[in-house]
Amino acid sequence: MKFVRFGPEGAERPGLIDDQGTLRDLSSEMEDLSGSVLSHLDDFDPRGLPAVQGTPRLGVPVGRVGKCICIGLNYSDHAAEAGMDVPSEPIVFMKATSALCGPNDPIILPRGSQKTDWEVELAVVIGRRCKYVTPAQALDYVAGYMAFNDLSERAFQIERGGQWTKGKSCDSFGPCGPWLVTPDDVGNPQDLTLSLSVNGEPMQQGSSSKMVFTVPEVISYLSQMMTLHPGDVIATGTPPGVGMGLKPPRYLRAGDVVELEIEKLGRQRQVVQADS
Ligand code: ZN
Repeated sequence: MKFVRFGPEGAERPGLIDDQGTLRDLSSEMEDLSGSVLSHLDDFDPRGLPAVQGTPRLGVPVGRVGKCICIGLNYSDHAAEAGMDVPSEPIVFMKATSALCGPNDPIILPRGSQKTDWEVELAVVIGRRCKYVTPAQALDYVAGYMAFNDLSERAFQIERGGQWTKGKSCDSFGPCGPWLVTPDDVGNPQDLTLSLSVNGEPMQQGSSSKMVFTVPEVISYLSQMMTLHPGDVIATGTPPGVGMGLKPPRYLRAGDVVELEIEKLGRQRQVVQADS
């Protein structure tokens, strides 16, 4: 099933998309799509839920995200374009949860940004608390999957000292969704095509089959170091075709339109704006 959170920013309501593509309101069944609700998403039956009129804004499809953990250079072909070796262990960094936003919200260029870049990624949402899980157990703890854009200000990320958090955490740098799709509707997470275009021009094209560390390996790895909680988001790395890898590099400017799609997980569309 496909779950959403719809409505104005900060006042989103839980919903689901039924088999006919109708958005239905889940507010009578739960307070939010967050916490322990994420462990039993299969229990909700769209029949009888009220249909939502119009086309409201979609927000982050999961509420109360405790942490957003990202994996760097997790596609061998992207590592090559970045001029980096394929890592021997997952490269792990954090994105501030305040960066997360809806799938079609604008991308806001932070003041002074010259090098804001795109990264389409498969994101995993944790459904149940886990620690020290094996790769064989790991997928039992997944609530679902969603499309993700791991936006990155490359100068903040690479040229300003420290590590990557500064360039990854700007407001609007984490569009999520449109949907949280349950595992039964996704099947094998290592067999999804990902694509991204800028102003209609194809930039990224990839397959999650090219991941260096698979989804279960990443969950297991992280769970050796920290407890993963319901609502935690893990972005699993990007395929090749980011702006930094082009010759010459190309970065986002106000007015650009970014569109991305992951098979079975839907499409996002963002218009780039300068910060006011
Ligand atoms: Zn990334």
